Amino acid sequence: MDKDNKPVAVYWLNNSVYLNITNQCSNNCWFCFRNYKSGVGGFNLKLTQEPTLAEVTEELEKTLPARHWSEVVFCGFGEPTSRLDFLLETARWIKKHFLAAPIRLDTNGHGYALNKGRNVAEELKAAGVRSTSVSLNGENEKTYNEHCRPNISGAYQATLEFIRKAKAAGLEVEVSAVRIPEADMPKIRAIVDELGVPFRVRDYIPCFW
Ligand code: SF4
Repeated sequence: MDKDNKPVAVYWLNNSVYLNITNQCSNNCWFCFRNYKSGVGGFNLKLTQEPTLAEVTEELEKTLPARHWSEVVFCGFGEPTSRLDFLLETARWIKKHFLAAPIRLDTNGHGYALNKGRNVAEELKAAGVRSTSVSLNGENEKTYNEHCRPNISGAYQATLEFIRKAKAAGLEVEVSAVRIPEADMPKIRAIVDELGVPFRVRDYIPCFW
């Protein structure tokens, strides 16, 4: 893989490998990095079509043995749980072939709303996902909708549901929020504290939950 203009599903930054499995997202955050850039680190993340498992695993077979990566992260220009089955299949493949690689999911937390009737957190855990970083950019439904402009109903509640269930399923959970002027960080932090998981404020620079 090289840093030409071709869109990529597998890329890397610092010591982590990232998987850009979809450009679909159930949010349309006004601050989303993809509104301003075509990628990060010289990689083009604007997919022209969603990758197949064969395409992703072929790239991973080249990339993962190249060095000692600290983790493999589902994080790109879209919401990974939009393709839940593909995500799970890819995670299982990674655990089968590169057992030591810790897997993280960066998500907007809409997994239960996007996959009704599924046990999303348990399925992630069973597939080998170790941790998740959930984006929560609002202290209530109103502010969340203003900042993130979801195209599904109940997005804010779905995000809280995902955080609770991911923790209960035994995933390591972290919640983050982007430092945008409109965000009331103390209020978001209070909600996250109540959920009993760590909270991290991210600077308003290149996306990435
Ligand atoms: S910042 Fe994340 S959740 Fe928001 S629109 Fe972009 S990809 Fe979707």
